Amino acid sequence: MSNDTSTDAGTEDAATLRTPIVAVLGHVDHGKTSLLDKIRGSAVSEGESGAITQHIGATAVPLETISSMAGELVDPDDFDLPGLLFIDTPGHHSFSTLRARGGALADIAILVVDVNDGFQPQTEEAIDIIQRTGTPFVVAANKVDTIPGWNPNEGAPIKASYDAQSERVRSTLDEGLYDIIGDLSSAGFSADLYWRVQEFQRNIGVVPVSAMTGEGVSDLLAVLMGLSQRYMREEMEVDVSGSGVGTVLEVKEERGFGATIDVVVYDGVIREGDTIVVGGMDEPIVTEIRALLQPRPLAEIRTENRFERVDEIEAAAGVKIAAPELDDAMAGAPVMVVRDRPVEAVVDDVRAELAELEVETEEDGVVVKADTLGSLEAMADALREAEIPILRAEVGDIAPRDVAVAGTANEATYRAILGFNVDVLSNAEDELEESEVEVFVDDVIYQLVEDYEAFVEERERAQQ
Ligand code: GDP
Repeated sequence: MSNDTSTDAGTEDAATLRTPIVAVLGHVDHGKTSLLDKIRGSAVSEGESGAITQHIGATAVPLETISSMAGELVDPDDFDLPGLLFIDTPGHHSFSTLRARGGALADIAILVVDVNDGFQPQTEEAIDIIQRTGTPFVVAANKVDTIPGWNPNEGAPIKASYDAQSERVRSTLDEGLYDIIGDLSSAGFSADLYWRVQEFQRNIGVVPVSAMTGEGVSDLLAVLMGLSQRYMREEMEVDVSGSGVGTVLEVKEERGFGATIDVVVYDGVIREGDTIVVGGMDEPIVTEIRALLQPRPLAEIRTENRFERVDEIEAAAGVKIAAPELDDAMAGAPVMVVRDRPVEAVVDDVRAELAELEVETEEDGVVVKADTLGSLEAMADALREAEIPILRAEVGDIAPRDVAVAGTANEATYRAILGFNVDVLSNAEDELEESEVEVFVDDVIYQLVEDYEAFVEERERAQQ
């Protein structure tokens, strides 16, 4: 193993290799946010300048930082990928938003499972999405520090930490780990503790970690980097001077800019002044980029000016785009730069991609609203599984029009709106009071489905 941490070797190749995009999934409270915070925090405390780069909606950790965190687990000479780009918003709703052409855009997923709590409903949902999109993943068996008697070893590689525990502690941890491995196996994956796994793609590595003490975090980074290098490298080859392509993460109003879109760029380059086509609520939006914005370095943040303008941004990166006409842009929709082709051709591409994401509807059923296209799809899948038909499915808050549409359902129990991660607009509330339409709003899909099913059961019981 070489001690040479120079990254000059491979720089030429790296110019055409983009950073793999990593998304974090798992059940609520299992530690997704904490793990992301720990990765960012540990990277920064490595102390190098440029230890991480903060993007809009994402954080890039360069290879040099990963390798100095992971020590001998990551020899920089073995890699030519530039590092890892972590999507900042955890959860499978943002993950399924990150998609391109029917697949997942996130190249790799971390499935976080609380080692004491094991698989839970959202873990199952996450596994379904991972399976459907064929995304390589690694399991972070989190919160090992909460095992009674655990002797913490801040930031240590997990194998050393594991071996140093008492036998009793190890066997408690093993029980949790084997439950997770068993659940993965029921889902059709062969899995094992990561240090016993050779072929990561066929065998899922389970990495015990603590987002609190940082134990195992370097191992997790090493596995992600290794998976990317071995299995994703070819897909990371992009033409960095080609037309930019990305996905809308969020549509946000920003003071001084109006409606803006937060975008993950996964191919090509996007420049200020470019004409772009963005998937919109009704029609693709054609507009011209007024400004590309990145967060200012923390030290420079002034309240009135949180962003820094950049001239261009290359894949893979997160950026905020300010442009006219973005009010109706849709989270989860594609963004494409118009460069060497006629606008109409690009509009057709955006339309085609959106058509792939459309949810099938029936003559009669419930109305579904969700915050992003990805979550709308996830909702539609869950409803299909529960055999609940859908009359209409759309992205956006619950509006008076939705109440009117829901009111037209023939079957009384279908006169319902299921809203995922959305608000009820105040004018819709007035309409609701005068209608017999029921509204269910939640940010957990299985909860929404359960609540609706309970309502149907109650109605049916009342009629008997
Ligand atoms: P999320 O909902 O999956 O994003 O979970 P959070 O990151 O918000 O974590 C949920 C709770 O678990 C918080 O109170 C965290 O402080 C705690 N937590 C997360 N990871 C760990 C861990 O590794 N060890 C311990 N002791 N607590 C943790």
